[in-house]
Amino acid sequence: MPLYEYVCQQCGKRFEVLQRVGATADGLSCPSCGGQEVTKAFSTFASSVPTGSGAALPCGKPSSAGCGGGFT
Ligand SMILES: [Zn+2]
Repeated sequence: MPLYEYVCQQCGKRFEVLQRVGATADGLSCPSCGGQEVTKAFSTFASSVPTGSGAALPCGKPSSAGCGGGFT
């Protein structure tokens, strides 16, 4: 089973829960404050893929930093 990360909307606590694929936040509660307003936190690396830039990555490794992509 994968480990999912959730964020409590009440206190901002981030915590991880071992769940089956496709599980939701139903029934989960914050281990810190007990609040049930929790939302799934998505991994940040999944959202860093450039789209529509039209330029090929110079190093061929999308997740690699420092390959001269124009960001400093
Ligand atoms: Zn909380």
